[in-house]
Order: sequence, then C-alpha cells, then structure tokens
Amino acid sequence: MAKKMLAAVYLGPEKIELNTVPIPEPAAGELLVKVRAATTCGTDVKTYRRGHPKFPPPFIFGHEFGGDIVKVGKGVERFREGMRVTANVFAECGECFYCKKGQGNICANLVYNFGAFAEYMILPASIVRRTTFEIPAHIPYAHAALLEPLVTVVHGWHKVAIQPGEIVAIIGAGGPISLLFLQLALRAGANQVIAIGHSPARLNVAKKLGATHLVNAKEADTITTVRELTHGYGADVVFECAGTKQTWETSVDVVRRGGRVLWFGGLPGGTKVEIDAARVHYGEIALLNMHGGTAEDAREAFDLIVSGAINVAPLLNGVLPLEQVEQALKKMIAGDVVKMVITPES
Ligand SMILES: [Zn+2]
Ligand SMILES: [Zn+2]
Repeated sequence: MAKKMLAAVYLGPEKIELNTVPIPEPAAGELLVKVRAATTCGTDVKTYRRGHPKFPPPFIFGHEFGGDIVKVGKGVERFREGMRVTANVFAECGECFYCKKGQGNICANLVYNFGAFAEYMILPASIVRRTTFEIPAHIPYAHAALLEPLVTVVHGWHKVAIQPGEIVAIIGAGGPISLLFLQLALRAGANQVIAIGHSPARLNVAKKLGATHLVNAKEADTITTVRELTHGYGADVVFECAGTKQTWETSVDVVRRGGRVLWFGGLPGGTKVEIDAARVHYGEIALLNMHGGTAEDAREAFDLIVSGAINVAPLLNGVLPLEQVEQALKKMIAGDVVKMVITPES
C-alpha cells in the first residue's frame, strides 16, 4: 500500500480540509519533494475567499515552497536526491506561438503546479526542466519560497523600466507583491516611493524597506495626497497592487502626464474600468498590464534572492503548522501579517 501524507485540500471558498492522502510517485521527468517550508500568498487568499476561475476544486493548496528532493523520476539529470530546491508555480512550453515571441508568461500550454501545503509534492516535468532551482546552503527554505511572487514582480519591473530619480507610488502597499516592487524600485534608483495602503502594520514594513512616504488610505485621500507630494504633477510610475476596480481607476488619477501605470492586481472577468480617455490620450499615459513571468524572469528572481539583493525576511511574519493553514490565511485577510510560513512538521 502506498505511504500516506497529510495535505491541506482546497474544497471551495472558505473550505480547506486536512486530509490523509497517498504520497504521489514521480513519473518520468518529475521530482518528489519533501516540503520544508511553504508560504501563504495573495493568490491563496483570493482563491480561499472566492475560488479561482482557472482551477476548480478539489486540489492541494499552496504553491510557494522550499524542500528536499526525496525521489527523482526517470530521465532527470540536473537534480538528484537530497538537493534543496524551490520552483515557480508554472513553466512555459517553449514551443508555442507566444513562447517563440519570448512571451512564455502567456504561453498557450502553461503547466501550473499546486500542492505545497502538504508533506510532499510532485514537481511536473516542464517545471523541473525550466523553473526549478537548487537552493544554496545559506538560504533558508522559507526565503527561497518567495521565488514565485518575485518572478511576477521582476516581470512587471522590466515592463515599467524605472529610471533613476523617479517618483513611484504603490497602491495596495504592504502586501507581499508591493513590498517586492518597492525594493526593486529603490534598486533601480527611484528617489521617492509613496506607499499607499490600509494596514498600519503592513505600511510599517514598507517603511522599514525604504518607503519615503506612507499614506493610510483610510485617513487621507489618495489622489490629493499624491498630488501634494509631487508638486501637483503626480507620480512618474504607479504600481497598482490592490486589485480592485477603484484602485485601477485611482492609479490613472495619481500618475503624472507622460507617466506609466502598471495594473498588477487582477480583477474578475467582465469588470469594466472607467478612465478619462482624454487624460490618457493627451497626457500620453502608458497603461501597462502583466501576468506572471517567463522562465528567464524566474532565473533572475532566484538570483536576486540568493544574492541578498532582495530582503525577503520582513515579509515573513510567523510560522504555523500545516494544520493551521486556514488560520494563516485569515491573518493575511485581517492585514496583521504580510505572509505566514507553513511547516509540515509541527
Ligand atoms: Zn504566490
Ligand atoms: Zn508556450
């Protein structure tokens, strides 16, 4: 009989069950990994609250992890048992129309992988080939787990191409994505970063990581405050990381003429966003969108974590056992924490 493991199974909005399931066997090209640390993510929270349009339940929750390879599928040459690894949540095929244009992030055959909130997980062959990385000894598992959010942030950062001296406003500041954008913006030479958010605890983390101005959107009007801070012009670059219709629209109101907006936070299908077409046209405002990141972005993100260029520790605000995945997500919803670390062995 197959050996069993504990896994947090997602059954639908606000329904997660801890079940005993067979430990999967790696097929050709796959890896079986013993999860050492997994981190909670904004996508987990969204799925927990309202389901995910692409992934019907049931499935084992969680996708950000660091762990040890315990079994290697046939034909895998780059990895062996005992290696510490992390991987992105998806990999591109490398061959489709989009991949050939260098846009692997919107690949027609993306392979996704979930299952990190469990004792063991399988890494599919295409992820093993393209977006799995060996973690050096000095990097903790939980730090390496931040690969996935950083991949998307690196992708967006390249799109926006921040110039030295620019003023950056981040809407939805304090969430994990925003705190990674904040660090990359400063790295690119931004001289002011205005962090706009709701949670004082999370805004404080933004301050620790170098935000020059904090705006609590519950207390101050975002548009007026950003205009005041920028001599009436607006910010050069706006990162929208809150994922609401209202914040998408506000982003266009707080960017300067000639500036760039990156709408990062996805909205439910069918959402219509209202923007002033004349302001966008005559003001030459670039409206940028993005989704995920390429295998190349993944390599770059991994190197940023390994080199210490990105400080991931302040984003991790506590450790909970696998049994308490739901509590961890509730802490994120309450805005008490940026991310929680889930460890299978409690
Ligand atoms: Zn994630
Ligand atoms: Zn493809």
